[in-house]
Amino acid sequence: MKKNTGKEAPGIGILGGGLAGVALQHFLRVPSEVLEKEDRPGGLCRSWEADGVVCDRGPHIMFSRDGETLKEMVDILGVNVEKHFRRNSIFYRGRFVKYPFENDIHALEPEDRYRCLKEFLFNPEAGREVRNLEDWSYRMFGPALAEAYFLPYNEKIWKHPARELGTEWVERIPRIEADDMIKSAVGVSTEGYTHQLHFYHPREGGIEALVRALMRNRPRLITGAEVTGLERNNGIWKVKTFKGEREYPEVVCCLPVNEMLGFLKPAPPPEILEAAGRLKVNGLVLVLITYPRAEPADRLAVYIPDPEILPHRVSWVNYLGGRLVPPNLHAAMAEITLPGGADSEAPDVNAIAKKTTEQLRRLDLIPSGVPVKTRAIWEPYGYVVNTHGYSRDRELILEYCRETGIETLGRWGEFAYLNMDAVWKKARLLAERMNKDR
Ligand SMILES: Cc1cc2nc3c(=O)[nH]c(=O)nc-3n(C[C@H](O)[C@H](O)[C@H](O)COP(=O)(O)OP(=O)(O)OC[C@H]3O[C@@H](n4cnc5c(N)ncnc54)[C@H](O)[C@@H]3O)c2cc1C
Repeated sequence: MKKNTGKEAPGIGILGGGLAGVALQHFLRVPSEVLEKEDRPGGLCRSWEADGVVCDRGPHIMFSRDGETLKEMVDILGVNVEKHFRRNSIFYRGRFVKYPFENDIHALEPEDRYRCLKEFLFNPEAGREVRNLEDWSYRMFGPALAEAYFLPYNEKIWKHPARELGTEWVERIPRIEADDMIKSAVGVSTEGYTHQLHFYHPREGGIEALVRALMRNRPRLITGAEVTGLERNNGIWKVKTFKGEREYPEVVCCLPVNEMLGFLKPAPPPEILEAAGRLKVNGLVLVLITYPRAEPADRLAVYIPDPEILPHRVSWVNYLGGRLVPPNLHAAMAEITLPGGADSEAPDVNAIAKKTTEQLRRLDLIPSGVPVKTRAIWEPYGYVVNTHGYSRDRELILEYCRETGIETLGRWGEFAYLNMDAVWKKARLLAERMNKDR
């Protein structure tokens, strides 16, 4: 890679080529260059091809409460997009409960159904002070519902007790009205989380098709360019990468901000590095299990709150359309979070895949007696974990980046629980501001 200089190529250096980085470049009207460490862009939105199956790294469905953003995402895919109806269940004590759990308590044993309804309507925890996610769930749902699904599921995915988790993200969770809860108990069908009742997904290529569509027009991207150093001299940012050095007058960090602070020069003050050290990540093991099929997939996903079972969710890729999976196969993807993410050693994914397959067969979610093929991968950056103090540490870090002149963007650039729609919208807004500033 030829060394550039900030003067001859006065572009914006975008560090990290996940959705955030490529969407930002798409919206920018000024020159920019994306530096990506992997051999292709996309990050968490890359597709994974194995045994003839094209799947996402954990199914990525396109939905949003923001109609304009969703339309932009859908439109850019042209004809390569399909609308789907969400058909998900929770696997609870050996039976399927329609997702979200509170909208189908009729599916529970009569005694459980009665307790869930009674404690929702006459909640003995209605006055509980909310200091953490556990308090919030007792106050919001009542003890029976909280203990049946919300708490075990959340503790399973976040790998922390709910009393150690903050409540900053609870506004993402739609509230159920008493009327719907009564309908749910007596068996009148209702739908919850209606903003994702219908969703979109590319017909072909998996969710990476979205990234490819963004790159279609003007990709200026260097792959295999892991960024290892960042230093400002005389108003120009010097960026060290595995492929040599680049210079830019402006940079946007779309790679994990905690890692960027580790190679920034001069080194940030100790309180910033300590705050970065406290940020927590959960990594993710993805297990793809393929087996012969007689019928089509009847649901996209099954959520499993049982703490004894490794995966918190299993999804059937063939529910997303016929072009992703060979016609005679089922492709089930199980997701397992592990605490520590990038800070921990890579787990033994084959052992996890084996145990997962055995457990899913035992639950009859995967039929026994049919041959299966199993593949597994490890994704060290899966989920930002909102433990106490997270918001304060994050704000401190982002403020420091702003003062230092580094823009941050995306799930890891901003260290926030952002879905694709939020990343997309933030990329558009940042590009509009940067376009105007020049
Ligand atoms: C299991 C799972 C399921 C999800 N499902 C959905 C869903 O259904 N719907 C939805 O809207 N969203 C979903 N999301 C969220 C979605 O994946 C993210 O919002 C989005 O992909 C974040 O993009 P990003 O660019 O911010 O981060 P990333 O995709 O993590 O991109 C970061 C990029 O930086 C690169 N990088 C890292 N370090 C360096 C370095 N030193 N030098 C250069 N490059 C570097 C990485 O390789 C990567 O390409 C899901 C996420 C997960 C984990």
